[in-house]
Amino acid sequence: MDKPEKFIIDGIRLDGRKPDELRPMKIEVGVLNRADGSCYLEFGKNKVLAAVYGPREVHPRHNQKPTTAVVRFRYNMASFSVEERKRPGPDRRSIEVSKVSREAVEPMIFTEYFPKSAIDIFVEVLQADAGTRTAGINAASIALADASIPMRGLVSSCAVGKVDGELVLDLMKDEDNYGEADMPVAMTPDGEITLLQMDGNLTREELKKALEMATEGCKQIYKLQREALIGRYKKELEEHKEDVELVETITESEETSIESTTTVNIDESGGLDDE
Ligand code: UDP
Repeated sequence: MDKPEKFIIDGIRLDGRKPDELRPMKIEVGVLNRADGSCYLEFGKNKVLAAVYGPREVHPRHNQKPTTAVVRFRYNMASFSVEERKRPGPDRRSIEVSKVSREAVEPMIFTEYFPKSAIDIFVEVLQADAGTRTAGINAASIALADASIPMRGLVSSCAVGKVDGELVLDLMKDEDNYGEADMPVAMTPDGEITLLQMDGNLTREELKKALEMATEGCKQIYKLQREALIGRYKKELEEHKEDVELVETITESEETSIESTTTVNIDESGGLDDE
């Protein structure tokens, strides 16, 4: 598509969004049987799949770290994911995206719990429409949680950019291609930034406002990520309802017997005190 004449008409963007509005996000957790954790995520027209394996043995062995786990992140774009066929295999861009994505999620993982092991994260982009690294980080973060990797929290990610001289949240393809700036951000639920990149130019004031918009966007994404993870385990609990009820009955009866034992103990000690 050629460069549109205008990106914002009467306060509305080309895809019908307001400047501070995210694209719709759809999340499915636990979609791959062989992976320890997985997630399928749609972010607007982006479609990505994340798979997590580990903690597991490191191969080759000389890559293992004696006191922490090694976190490896591979971002890959399918040949059919973009308009013009992408040559398969790693290239400069995918190596860069893999590196920054690893750095975005790694601080949240308790790597010190798993010395000499590896945690492998794979992100496959099936359909790309700008913001694939942010979609990949959101999916990876959920897949890590689904793999029961101990984490300080989830990482959420979105981009802020500039079109027609105005800041906009979560760029779609035309805004990314022809816009004046693109700034992908990833942050923790506490607002700590784990990824901040910048393409183009922003003034100091714009940068401040862009960070505020990204923070708001990440908060909304965090909510969706959390809901998706809770939903997954609710579903699992419902599927095993009878087992859960049985466990609850056993727990309740155990609690009752503990209570009665405690009463006896109190009586006994009371008796001792009286002596
Ligand atoms: N893109 C493409 N072919 C490529 C790489 C990228 O068509 O080989 C498109 C794709 O839609 C991607 C967008 O360009 O989402 C922006 O790429 P960028 O490097 O800014 O990363 P992203 O915004 O996806 O994180």
